[in-house]
This record gives sequence, C-alpha cells and structure tokens, in this order.
Amino acid sequence: MNPDNIRIVLVNTTHPGNIGGVARAMKNMGLRHLYLVAPRDYPSEQAVWRAASATDILDSAVVVPTLHAAIGDCQFVVGTSARTRRIPWPLLGARQCAERIALASAREQVAILFGREDRGLTNEELQVCNLHLNIPTSDAYSSLNLAMAVQIVAYELCMLASTTELPDSEVDQWDAPFAALHDMERFYTHLEETLVDIEFLDPAAPRQLMSRLRRLYNRVRLDEMELNILRGILTETRKWVKRARAGKP
Ligand code: SAH
Repeated sequence: MNPDNIRIVLVNTTHPGNIGGVARAMKNMGLRHLYLVAPRDYPSEQAVWRAASATDILDSAVVVPTLHAAIGDCQFVVGTSARTRRIPWPLLGARQCAERIALASAREQVAILFGREDRGLTNEELQVCNLHLNIPTSDAYSSLNLAMAVQIVAYELCMLASTTELPDSEVDQWDAPFAALHDMERFYTHLEETLVDIEFLDPAAPRQLMSRLRRLYNRVRLDEMELNILRGILTETRKWVKRARAGKP
C-alpha cells in the first residue's frame, strides 16, 4: 500500500467544519492528499478550528471546480454511499474495499469520493467509479456524518498499511497499465457517438444504455492497450457508416 497514491475527494461539501474534521481524520490515519471539489464555504475559520493539528492537510488541499479535475489522472476510483442505487454497481463493505484500495495504491493513483452532506453523490458521479464502498450500519439509520465516514475508511486503510500480507496486486503481472479516468471518459463519448451513428442508441430514448456500458467496462477495468483497440474499432465503424451513408462502396 502507498498512501501517497490515495486521495480523498470531497464533492461540494457544504459545511467547512466537516472539511476540517476530514483533514484531522486523514492525518490521524496517515493519509495526506485532500481534494475539494467546489466546496460551498472554503477557506474557512471553522475548517481550521476543526482540523486541530491537521492544518497542514488543509494547507496542501487542492481545490478544483469539477470532479474530473480532481480525478482525471486516477486509474482506480471508489465512490462511497449509504444508499443502494437503481442500477447497482459492484459494492463492497468498507473493510473489503479498503483491501482493494490498498492493493491498487501500490501502483496506481486511487481516488475515494465522498458526497454532499444533504444528498450524497449523484448517480452520474457514482457511475465514474470502479467500485462502491458502503460502511455497514444499523438499518435504522445508515447515513454517517461526512467526516466520520472518512474516518472509518481511513482507519481501515491505516490497519492495512501495517500489514505485509496483502496478496499481489492484479497490476503486478499485467502487461499494460490500466487506463486513467480521463481516457475512459473520452472512450465513453466516442462509444456513445458511434452507437448513435449506427442507430443502436436513440438519443431521444437513451434508457440506461450508457450507464450499463459504463458499469461493464468499469467492472472489467480496461488497460491502455485494450482501450486503444476499442477506440480503433469505433473509429473504423464510424468511417464505414459515413461511407455507406454517402453511397460509397
Ligand atoms: N443523505 C446522504 C448521505 C450524505 S452523508 C445520502 O442519502 O446519500 C455524506 C457522505 O458521507 C456520503 O455522500 C458518503 O460519501 C459518506 N457516507 C455516509 N454514510 C455512509 C455509509 N454508510 N457508507 C458509505 N459512505 C457513507
């Protein structure tokens, strides 16, 4: 495990006190990299106050306007959520998921996303993820305070940091690096355009097609070579469609 390859990403946090609480939880557990996506009220005295002796984490926090600016270069992305969604994604409890994060972090840039206090992460935000992480709770009330959710995930990672017995990462014996998120997003745009082109996808009634395809590819995890092959197939497909429409052989 390499904590330097793990970033905690807070999306649209409303209360600056929570940002401070997150910084403290991270420092307590040996995590350093905090990204803040369009926080509502930051910088703030309240954040500094709640961070206690973890103001260095706040000082080095990266504030960005969009989620993609925070995680575009990541190869492995985990979204945290208390709620199950209409299209379920591969879901793990905090402990098992921490193991996957720890493994991936040995070689890859990993992001863990945390949502808004009032409504969590949107479906679109969760659909950029490879895995969903759920912290098991009482059925009576499953939504934790944001900083406490970060605390628990960071604690599970901290416990693994001292373990030497993690199995080999899946990347260890792989022949090409896994694709980064910004390349996956370009692929999804290309795929969608091609599916519209060949009239498999009706933009007026897209249903859940792109969500399901995202789930498929994010579950498999494409390496850079595989991604290039698929992009090549899409490019040729679009060329053929264009030629056929122009009546050329
Ligand atoms: N009311 C929101 C929950 C927001 S809590 C909702 O219904 O989605 C703020 C954030 O803390 C969540 O977006 C998530 O990132 C994290 N969180 C809270 N409880 C969690 C749980 N049980 N499992 C995983 N993440 C949780």
